[in-house]
Amino acid sequence: MNNLDYMYKQVEQLKKDGVYRILPINYGPCTNVIDLNHKSVVNLSSNNYLGLATHPVVTEAAIEAVKKYGAGTGSVRTIVGNQDLLEELEVVLAEFKREEAVTCFQSGLNCNIGAIQAIVNKGDLIVSDELNHASIIDGVRLSRADKAVYKHSDISDLERVLKEKRENYNNVLIITDGVFSMDGDLAKLPEIVTLAKKYNCMTYVDDAHGSGVLGESGRGTVDHFGLHGQVDFIIGTLSKAIGVIGGYVASSMIVKEWLLHRARPLLFSTALPPAAIGATIASVKLLMASTEFTDRLWENANYFKAKLNDLGFDTGHSQTPITPVMVGEEAKTMEFSRELLAEGVFVSAIVFPTVAKGKGRLRCMISAAHTLEDLDKAVKVFEKVGRKLEII
Ligand SMILES: *Cc1c(COP(=O)(O)O)cnc(C)c1O
Repeated sequence: MNNLDYMYKQVEQLKKDGVYRILPINYGPCTNVIDLNHKSVVNLSSNNYLGLATHPVVTEAAIEAVKKYGAGTGSVRTIVGNQDLLEELEVVLAEFKREEAVTCFQSGLNCNIGAIQAIVNKGDLIVSDELNHASIIDGVRLSRADKAVYKHSDISDLERVLKEKRENYNNVLIITDGVFSMDGDLAKLPEIVTLAKKYNCMTYVDDAHGSGVLGESGRGTVDHFGLHGQVDFIIGTLSKAIGVIGGYVASSMIVKEWLLHRARPLLFSTALPPAAIGATIASVKLLMASTEFTDRLWENANYFKAKLNDLGFDTGHSQTPITPVMVGEEAKTMEFSRELLAEGVFVSAIVFPTVAKGKGRLRCMISAAHTLEDLDKAVKVFEKVGRKLEII
């Protein structure tokens, strides 16, 4: 007997259920074509929307930052980890986001688990979309506020919750993803903001998949809807379109002052490393200088989606470069992904419990880094495998 027996049993069960996974290994950088398990494949599964993870200006800035500041910051921000480079990044990001202030965290997940519990307290209520990201759910769990969930993007259900519960609480925080990562649909932000005003609530938008993608030069969902100054907390990640790592809250200055005193990842976890900060500054500056990156991303995404639709694939109701290809049954979805890989195209299968049972899909993530040849190859392979498995 061993006190880890329960874990052996559960891992056995994962294997029996056919959901045990061995992580694929990428032997090089994350770009349009990758060396996955020593096989060259078109990469349709990264969040590197703009190709900035390997942009020479960005990687050079990382090297320069390491030369000047070293590899690590050596401390949490509130002690001696707050390098001037990080202050500079926050100024650049605030300008980019067109908001008063920005507070950076070590990742998007960190940002949600730190910010939500700092914002609300006992006696407050969080009202959350049922499809919100896992890191929001974790942030909500760590806070001492009560929680209510509304049906996905259902504004009348949101109003029902507010009508029923608003008066019983001090502060109420409505939280939504800006772009929902599994379907690529947008939150109905204008309606949410209107309801928040009517019921005197705060608003919190996690724009991890919207920043660098939507709005002018990728300024995000709030910019896309023209709602600057009307959302209290705008969360972004530096790990997806920006191509590096980190997360941030764009907000008013008072929010920043409060987070610097109460957000636990800033108090108890070491600050972002110089390489990441330097690279991110360069990335954001590239975006502010030109719409070239976001233009190419949307051109590629529209091209790929139209080709798949012409072939008869169901690409759901995405409004962004996230392109789900609906398959349905779990085993068939996994098989589709395996067959594509055998033909040199990597797309991860998304199945229950990440999405509802019977809603299995392949989630294609299109990037500005893809060439027309990459996309044409992927379309050809989708056609071949799709016909073989009788999906089209
Ligand atoms: C990816 C994602 C995160 C996590 O961001 P990281 O920077 O990778 O930690 C948070 N929220 C949403 C909605 C996401 O899609």
